[in-house]
Amino acid sequence: MPGEGMETLEAICVPLRGMTILPGAITHFDVMRPKSVMAIERAMANNERIFVVSQMDIAVIEPGREDLYRYGTYCKIRQIVRSGNKNIRVMVEGLFRCAIEELTEGTEYLTVRIRPDEEKDFYPVDERMLPEAKEAMMQIVRELLGEFISFGPDFIADNVRKLLYIESLEELLMKVGTEVIQDYLTRQHILETTNLEERYNIIVRKLMRENQVIGIKREFQKQLKDQIDQNQKEYVLREQLKIIQSELGENSPGEDAAGYEKKLASLRIDKESKEKLAKEIARLRATPGGSQEGNVIRNYLETVFDIPWSKQSKDNQDIKKAARILDQEHYGLEKVKERIIEYLAVRILNPKGHGPILCLVGPPGTGKTSVARSVANALSKKYVRISLGGVRDEAEIRGHRKTYIGAMPGRIVEGLRQAGVCNPLMLLDEIDKVSSDYKGDTSSALLEVLDAEQNIRFRDHYVEIPVDLSQVLFIATANSVATIPGPLRDRMEIIEINSYTENEKFHIARDYLVAKQMRANGIDAGGIRITDKAIKKIIHHYTREAGVRNLERKIGDICRKTARRILEGRKSRMVVSENRLEEFLGKEKIRFEGANDKDEIGIVRGLAWTSVGGDTLQIEVNLTRGKGNLLLTGQMGEVMKESAKIALSAVRAREDAYTIPEEFFEKHDIHIHIPEGAVPKDGPSAGITMATAILSALTGIKVKASVAMTGEITLRGRVLPVGGLKEKILAAKLADIKEVIVPAKNLPDIEELSKEIKGGLQIHFVSALDEVLDIALCKEKK
Ligand code: ADP
Repeated sequence: MPGEGMETLEAICVPLRGMTILPGAITHFDVMRPKSVMAIERAMANNERIFVVSQMDIAVIEPGREDLYRYGTYCKIRQIVRSGNKNIRVMVEGLFRCAIEELTEGTEYLTVRIRPDEEKDFYPVDERMLPEAKEAMMQIVRELLGEFISFGPDFIADNVRKLLYIESLEELLMKVGTEVIQDYLTRQHILETTNLEERYNIIVRKLMRENQVIGIKREFQKQLKDQIDQNQKEYVLREQLKIIQSELGENSPGEDAAGYEKKLASLRIDKESKEKLAKEIARLRATPGGSQEGNVIRNYLETVFDIPWSKQSKDNQDIKKAARILDQEHYGLEKVKERIIEYLAVRILNPKGHGPILCLVGPPGTGKTSVARSVANALSKKYVRISLGGVRDEAEIRGHRKTYIGAMPGRIVEGLRQAGVCNPLMLLDEIDKVSSDYKGDTSSALLEVLDAEQNIRFRDHYVEIPVDLSQVLFIATANSVATIPGPLRDRMEIIEINSYTENEKFHIARDYLVAKQMRANGIDAGGIRITDKAIKKIIHHYTREAGVRNLERKIGDICRKTARRILEGRKSRMVVSENRLEEFLGKEKIRFEGANDKDEIGIVRGLAWTSVGGDTLQIEVNLTRGKGNLLLTGQMGEVMKESAKIALSAVRAREDAYTIPEEFFEKHDIHIHIPEGAVPKDGPSAGITMATAILSALTGIKVKASVAMTGEITLRGRVLPVGGLKEKILAAKLADIKEVIVPAKNLPDIEELSKEIKGGLQIHFVSALDEVLDIALCKEKK
């Protein structure tokens, strides 16, 4: 209605709270204040026009001039709806903007004198602005609207979408103000300016902000929703899992944790370790059921609770009974048993004392393991055997950290678990066979096991908390002292077990092994009788060893075959005589490489000690054309090679005595060979043997085939004592040798040997090479 023609207008005024009505907008509001109700009534009776203006402070009930904004809107009342309680809902159409010139607070209602804008048109068309600028502004507003629409609910979107088709910037901005922008303060700002650019700025800023807020709101809602979805999903899965677990009879982490906590409470370990375990249990509780991590922790806890932390068995303290048991279970071995009993006596009297670890050293099959087992029996201790042969990785002893897949504790802790008590007898079998390589030092781990100071708190990588090994009785075994790592050897008391004589083997077989194998194969007492002669024949012709392991195996073979015949109903009793052995064991296995058949040049029989018993070895020397070099071949260790050089020097010192031409050595090479045996030989004890062979080769004098010898030699040709006499003499007898040459200084060792061992042997004691040569060389030249 522009052109109402007056400079200023008198109008009825209705103040609005929290609301601004822009020209062009059709909107409604509720009127509650009596003055306003009266104003509307009067306007309706008059020209249906009112002036609406926003209050600055919505809390003010009866606003004066200063409570109202300067600009308001002149409106036409379209419709009024009365509700029962005197309130009126009014629908108005905004016509044009007016500024208040004067306000009169009448008793019934407010009246104003207002000045309309010049144009009385609220869409002032800005002619100065470039059309391109307007276009750009419109595009920006449209984009923002587009974004707004994409966020908003559909019923808003439809209304707003219409605005996208408006062609003039002026109209677009006004419509955004009335249709999109809800907040009255912004609307008031829009109302207060007629500058197009300013209005654009207000609107764009508001839209951008609005979009941002909606975007952020959206994001929050989405996160919340995702979280709720995820929680929902997990909840459902967990419920399903519970059902599956209960079907499978498994426990949930919570149930398991509660069980472990109970166990932990009754565990007797130090506080620190308890705390550590409590932490693991708490971690288990926090894992979701059925998770990999949960299983790792469960395995760990199971393992740890399985270790016998304080569970003990009661030892037999009766030393006489112990001695009786040891005697019952083993033939001979008097010295060994005696030392073991002494050792046990000290332990019983001083249980807290850190005695050394016993180490039984001897060739295979001599009863080391079974003696250790007997000790366990004698003390009523649990027995576990830990085989160390070939252990190279420290982790085998100490375990893997539990972060490794499939990690386990090491063998020591496993041994404890197996024993089920913390004071078993633990046999460390073949302690000389551990080796250290790139994977950490196995022997230093073992050192910690054996050291009384350290083994109270043994560290296993898997278990993590220290394990007390101080109650464990350790016994070690080895084939040879020389190969036990030094620091380990220092912690041990060595008890040597020697090879058995044929007679000892016979007694062991007759009195122990036959009965043992019969029991093992389920044959009743009296089911088999192996005649004495048969046993001797097995020993001599079917086995060749320092111990009795193969002998036992052969007896086992006989028992198995007999068992079969008994089951097949062919026999109820079996007598195995010497003549029937072939039936059970096949052809004789061992052909003795007896004494040389005839005297020869450059071949001498030596006697050697190896970790698996005594042996004879034949040393051969050849002369070839050459330049005086010494050639050494065969299974020779470093010490033996040294010894060969010394032997050669000792021989050369005798050039004159044996009339060897001076230039002989310049034209010849000397080749010494030791035929390879299964076990490498080393040591100085072949010294005199090599010297004799060299001299025989040089002079062409034959060596007696019936003689064997052992002894270290010096440069000057003196003969020094050597070790392992018992084994060597036994080997000589087995090889059917009649005469042996040994160093004079070894006389006491020989005297110690029983008649059975040395009977029928001529033993020469020598202290110089010349004596050796006198005995060994044949008198006549070739
Ligand atoms: P090692 O541990 O020394 O290799 P073992 O302990 O395995 O030898 O002995 C092999 C077998 O010989 C075992 O069955 C053992 O009982 C038996 N044995 C060894 N020596 C004797 C002995 N002196 N008396 C009775 N049986 C013996």
